[in-house]
Amino acid sequence: MAEVTLHKITKTYGDTTALSDVSLTIPDGAFVVLLGPTGAGKTTTLRMVAGLDRPDRGDVMIHGRSMQGRTPAQRDVAMVFQQYSLYPHLSVRENLEFPLKSPILRTPRDVIARKVAEVAEVLQITHKLDNKATALSGGEMQRVSIGRALVRDPAIYLMDEPLSSLDAKLRSDLRIELKRIQSSMGATLLYVTHDQVEAMTMATHVGVLDQGHMVQFGTPREIYENP
Ligand code: ADP
Ligand code: ADP
Repeated sequence: MAEVTLHKITKTYGDTTALSDVSLTIPDGAFVVLLGPTGAGKTTTLRMVAGLDRPDRGDVMIHGRSMQGRTPAQRDVAMVFQQYSLYPHLSVRENLEFPLKSPILRTPRDVIARKVAEVAEVLQITHKLDNKATALSGGEMQRVSIGRALVRDPAIYLMDEPLSSLDAKLRSDLRIELKRIQSSMGATLLYVTHDQVEAMTMATHVGVLDQGHMVQFGTPREIYENP
C-alpha cells in the first residue's frame, strides 16, 4: 500500500495555478525528492500533504485513507520548513520536548528525556540544550527545527530545503542521517531541494514539477538518463 497518494490535486491562489491536476504515488518507505524551478509548486505540494491548505480539487490519501477534513495534527506527518518555527522564549531542550508533551501523547518523562538527548546528539546541539532559541545561529535553529520533527518519530516527513542554511560538513552528516531514518527506520520522506547532490545521494524517487505540472517521476537513474 502506498503511504501517500495525491489524486488529481488542483490548487489555485487567486489567478495563479500552483498545482494543476497533480497525481503522485509515494510508496511505503520511499525517499522522494521534488525538484523544479521557483514557483513550480513544490512547497504547495508539501502543504497539501500536511493539510496546511486545502486543495480546490482532488484528494490526498495517507495510509489508504482520505485526508479530507483532517487537520495537520490528525495526519501522521512532521514538517520541517525553511523558516524556523521555534518558540523563541523557550530553551532548545524545551523546544525539542514540546512536540512530545501533548496531553494526548502522554509520553513518560524519562522517554522524553531520552529522545531529546538522542536527537540532540545526532544533530550536534547537545551543548546548546540549555540556551534560549533566540541565542542560536541560523544553522543551529535549523537543526532544532529538524529535531522537533525527529523526536516525534512520524511515518512521514515533509521537508522543504531543510539543509540549505547549513555548512557543507553538517549538510553531508545530516544527509547520511536522513538516509538512515528512511532506510533503517522505514520512514517515508517527501523532500524539496534545489541541490542535485542531495537528490542523487538520497532519493529513491525524483519528481520534477514545472508550472504546477508533475512533468517527470522516476528513480534518479531514470530522471538523469532521460533529462
Ligand atoms: P515552489 O515551492 O516550487 O517555489 P510554490 O508552491 O511555493 O512553488 O508556489 C507555486 C505558485 O503558487 C507560485 O507562483 C507562487 O507564487 C504561488 N503561491 C503559493 N502560495 C501562495 C499564496 N499563499 N498566495 C498567492 N500565491 C501563492
Ligand atoms: P475548512 O474547515 O478550512 O474549510 P475542511 O474542514 O474541509 O476545511 O478541511 C480541514 C483540513 O482538511 C484542512 O487542513 C484541509 O487542508 C484538509 N482538506 C480538505 N479537503 C481535502 C482534500 N480533498 N484532500 C486532502 N486534504 C483536504
